[in-house]
Amino acid sequence: MSSIKEMYKSGKTVFSCEVFPPKKDKPLEPVMEKLREFKDIAPDFLSVTYGAGGSNAGHAVETASFIRREVGVDVLSHITSVGFSKEKLDSSLDIFRENGIENVLALRGDRPKDMTDEEYDSRDFFHASDMAEHIKKNHPGFTVAGACYPDKHFEAASYEEDIANLKKKVDMGCSFLITQLFFDNDKFYKMRDMMDRAGISAPVSAGIMPITNARMLGTTVTLSGTSVPKSLSDVIARYGENDDDMKKAGIEYATDQIKDLLSHGVDGIHLYVMNKPDTARAIFSEVR
Ligand code: FAD
Repeated sequence: MSSIKEMYKSGKTVFSCEVFPPKKDKPLEPVMEKLREFKDIAPDFLSVTYGAGGSNAGHAVETASFIRREVGVDVLSHITSVGFSKEKLDSSLDIFRENGIENVLALRGDRPKDMTDEEYDSRDFFHASDMAEHIKKNHPGFTVAGACYPDKHFEAASYEEDIANLKKKVDMGCSFLITQLFFDNDKFYKMRDMMDRAGISAPVSAGIMPITNARMLGTTVTLSGTSVPKSLSDVIARYGENDDDMKKAGIEYATDQIKDLLSHGVDGIHLYVMNKPDTARAIFSEVR
C-alpha cells in the first residue's frame, strides 16, 4: 500500500483510471470481472466513485477492497460531503483503513434530485475543503486529494473565484488534484498558469475521457459542464453514426490529447474509462 502523493514525487507521470462500483441492488461479480482485467494494465492507481446521496454507495467499499486485494493496485476512494455526515465519514474512514485504503478524493458531490433543501443545507461539510480539513485533523494517516476544473466549476462566478477556492482546498489538506474531464488542452494550460500565479503547487492529474460512442457526449457534457471544442464536434460529425469508427476516433482523440499533455510535462493522466479496461489498454499502450 502506498500513499499516492508519494508517486507524484518520483518525477514520473502518474497514470490512473476511474471506475465505478455496482449499484446497491446489483450483483458484484460482473463488475469485479471487468476490474480484474486492470491487473495486467497496471495503472498506478484506480479511483472508485461514490454516488452522492448514496445511490451506488453500497458497494463502494467492497469494490475498493476488491481492487486492493485482487487487482493489486492502489486505490483512491471518492467520498462526497453530500451523503456523508461527520459520524459516517469517521466510521467509513475506519473501515477504509481496515481494508488497506488510505487515499481518498474529497468531493462535495452534486445534489441528488430527491434531496430536500433541508437535507442539502444541513450537511456537516459544506465544501470539499471542509472535509479535507476534518480528515487531516482527525485521520492524519490519510492522503486527501481534491477536484479542480479546467472549464471552471459551473457554480463559481468567475475563474478567479474558482481558483481562490481551489487554493483553500489545497491549504486545507488536499495533497494532489484531479481535473474534471476536458477536451481542450488550452483550458488545462490556462488553469495551471492561474494556479501558479495563485501559489498552488499541488500536482495535478489531467482528467481525460475517451468518447467511444456519440451518445455518451450529451450526458457527459451535461453532467460535467465541460465545453466541446470544434475539433471534437468534427470527429463526432464524421464518425458518430458508426460505433466501431467512433470508438477508434474517440480513442485517437484522447491519445492525441494525452501526448500533447505529456509534452507539456503534465504530472499525471487520469482516464475516465469507467470500467472499460480495453479502452484503457488501447490508450496506455500508445502513451506510456
Ligand atoms: P467544492 O470544492 O466544494 O466546489 C464546489 C463549488 O464551491 C465551486 O464553485 C467552488 O468554487 C466553490 N467552493 C469550493 N470551496 C469553497 C469554499 N471553501 N468557500 C466558498 N466556495 C467554495 N461526484 C460524485 O457525486 N461522486 C463522485 O465519485 C465524483 N467524482 C468526481 C471525480 C472528479 C475527479 C471530479 C472532478 C468530480 C467528481 N464528482 C463526483 C463531481 C463533483 O462532486 C462535482 O463536480 C461537484 O459539483 C463539486 O465538487 P467539488 O468537490 O469540486 O466541490
